[in-house]
Amino acid sequence: MSQVSAANSSPFSPGRPVVFRNAIVLTIDPSLGMIEGGDVLVTANRIAAVGRQLAVPDGSVEIDAAGGILMPGMVDTHRHMWQTALRGFGADWTLTNYFQFYYLNWGKIFRPEDIYAGNLLSAIEAIDAGVTTSVDWSHGLQTVEYADAAVDALEAVPGRFVLAYGNLLGAPWEWTKTPELADFIKRRIDGHGDRLGMQLAFDVTGDPTFPEKAAFEAAREFNLPVTTHAGVWGATNDNGIRLMHEHGFMTPSTIYVHAATLSEDSYQRIAATGGHTSISTESEDNAGQGYSPTWQLRRYNIPVSLSMDTSVWWSADLFSAMRATLNADRAIEHLEAHKRNETVTLSHLRAEQVVTWATLGGAEALGMDRDIGSITVGKKADLVLIKNDQSPVMFPILHPYGHIVFQAGRGDVHTVMVDGNVVKYDHRLLNIDLTRARQAVAKTVEYARAQMGEQAWIAAMNPEKAAVELRENPYTYTDKARAQQKDA
Ligand SMILES: [Zn+2]
Repeated sequence: MSQVSAANSSPFSPGRPVVFRNAIVLTIDPSLGMIEGGDVLVTANRIAAVGRQLAVPDGSVEIDAAGGILMPGMVDTHRHMWQTALRGFGADWTLTNYFQFYYLNWGKIFRPEDIYAGNLLSAIEAIDAGVTTSVDWSHGLQTVEYADAAVDALEAVPGRFVLAYGNLLGAPWEWTKTPELADFIKRRIDGHGDRLGMQLAFDVTGDPTFPEKAAFEAAREFNLPVTTHAGVWGATNDNGIRLMHEHGFMTPSTIYVHAATLSEDSYQRIAATGGHTSISTESEDNAGQGYSPTWQLRRYNIPVSLSMDTSVWWSADLFSAMRATLNADRAIEHLEAHKRNETVTLSHLRAEQVVTWATLGGAEALGMDRDIGSITVGKKADLVLIKNDQSPVMFPILHPYGHIVFQAGRGDVHTVMVDGNVVKYDHRLLNIDLTRARQAVAKTVEYARAQMGEQAWIAAMNPEKAAVELRENPYTYTDKARAQQKDA
């Protein structure tokens, strides 16, 4: 057996067993719970044993996980990965700014190579952050050539991905019916293994003639789940849910993204048909889809998964998603109680629950929980070791679930394993060509900026600021406060 040291950073090879030693193991398997001083043995691409001081095969590589937390790979059920090419561009946007940018003005300028660039960077970023499975809600696919580029990028990165095929500039009842799409599924998805799945991605407008019916029928024919932005303030609402339900298209495989501004009736329909939600709290908070709804969803027992939505605002960091979701859920419980002149004395949402949503919750939403989502013998080995001996934040670890949510961050992701393959070790990605991603994205930025023109580029990144009106103040404001108000 060889213990891995920093000087010897690539002892990992296909087929060689790996054992994580002496971790706090958060199995997220209800029958195993948390194991302190735990070991996890991986042989081939599966979890072979979970316990303490495991006997392992000769030649196993040992990863010293002492002082760390080993958890299942995280699952992001909703990201527009192509938009990572313009990382951070929309930091000050609202959803209106976003729609104007992509839907009305500039979505059409992106080429297949731009989709490739965004996806490549996004996919690398995901595995670096311990997100071993990502749904690429890819709604920039103007033609099948774009979809080929998207998949080329996903296949270049050793993560697990689900291509949620979409086209924001086309009508879903048209593009889902093209022979090119059927051919694409045969060429790129069917028989390509379980590291690449597929869904159909489109929204339901609520138009009473229900034009999306044909797209749902196509999904049924292809046997693909549908993922849809539902309950987005000003965009999709209860009418869409009702039409889907009345036509029999709400199924356990359907994913409702945001599900923020919906009525009790819609939540009841989702609960009754077994669908899953994808909650992107940083997105809902910032963009305005509605308040992150987890506090409502528990009243209907609707399952939750987590997501980061788009890197045009945020990153692929599910630590942020867990933290934001716990914050939002507790904040509204307190505020609602205060309105009734009451005090919340017991928290509903627990750290353990959001860690479960970020892992098993995502796997269940994608119908992949037989294979991933928990550290269970027999499951595929998608694992994340959170360990950072250089960090003052990594000790003491007293409440491991809380530590993941409120203390640790992506900088503490030490080792990432996908399908039994170590893709990151000792804080460094292995066999990842970051230079290629950097060059591809630089070209896309240069191209988009030239297409838009300097003025439009700057204006789009810096939308006009909403004005603040100072309240009357009987004590009079200081001169400084008045001057700041003038500048604003
Ligand atoms: Zn979205």
